[in-house]
Amino acid sequence: MNQFQYARPAKQKAAIDLLVKDQNAMFIAGGTNLIDLMKRGVMTPEKLVDINRLPLKGIEKVQGGVRVGALALNSAVAEDKVILEKFPLLSLALKSGASAQLRNMATVGGNMMQRTRCYYFYDTALPCNKREPGTGCGALEGFNRMHAIFGFSDKCIAVHPSDMSVALVTLDATVLVTGPKGERQIPFIDFHRLPGDHPEVDTNLARNELILAVDIPESPFTKNVEYLKVRERASYAFALVSVAAALDIDHNTIRDARLAMGGVAHKPWRLSEAEKALVGKPVSETTFEQAAEIAMRGAKAFEHNAYKLKLAPNSIVQALKTAAGIA
Ligand code: SF4
Repeated sequence: MNQFQYARPAKQKAAIDLLVKDQNAMFIAGGTNLIDLMKRGVMTPEKLVDINRLPLKGIEKVQGGVRVGALALNSAVAEDKVILEKFPLLSLALKSGASAQLRNMATVGGNMMQRTRCYYFYDTALPCNKREPGTGCGALEGFNRMHAIFGFSDKCIAVHPSDMSVALVTLDATVLVTGPKGERQIPFIDFHRLPGDHPEVDTNLARNELILAVDIPESPFTKNVEYLKVRERASYAFALVSVAAALDIDHNTIRDARLAMGGVAHKPWRLSEAEKALVGKPVSETTFEQAAEIAMRGAKAFEHNAYKLKLAPNSIVQALKTAAGIA
């Protein structure tokens, strides 16, 4: 691992100033992804600005919803009474992510900022436009079993690995950030980027900005929800495909619906057209199959991930059935 400097400021402004002053500095919180990347030489910050002293751990009810601090631990959020009562989908997604030990270290902000698990990205001997722009994409013609079926480009076909982010995009959350230009809110659906010509840029967070919190608005999705994660090991693995499903059901009719997938794109993949197709329909397997068919329009597979074209719609139907209680 490269040598680096370490700072542990107690004030928000001091933390941001350290990043402004040193273009090779990075924030660190739980470090569950960044330390791995540094050990492998994938990321080489010259200074780590540890933000764990900042007061950003709270989970509190606010007008119109709940505010979750950027440093709240994944395990604390998953077991929080208010989250369990009002946003059980988020709790399910968090509990399906990583291991208990990692959830005890990983923070909400860090979870959002984790980087792809594409094998080529982690192996510094292989080409990767995300790690080293302009070197090519090893996965495009290589082993692409884990890779995207939506929203990819000819520069990068990686997928975003966070389960929590799939739930937060489903719940219409927003991200509160601050930086040298002040505070701003980013809709969660716009927080992560598609790769386009710049796969090295994962998010729309500016270089010197700090994530403060995630705001989740009140919603009717407190009961009929499911987070289905299909993976190769039940104990601990990233999603091949995951589905976040939330239904508001009134006497067997779907009054409102939210649906998103993970493991299929460079960002959490919200399925707005399929959501629209569910509204006003009866709860039935046929309704869910029609929504899944709509959700999959535009999907395209590579040599080793064609199985996702079948796994994804099947997972959508299964998640909706479980959410509706007809599984
Ligand atoms: Fe790198 Fe993206 Fe290609 Fe993976 S898919 S090798 S992360 S450019």
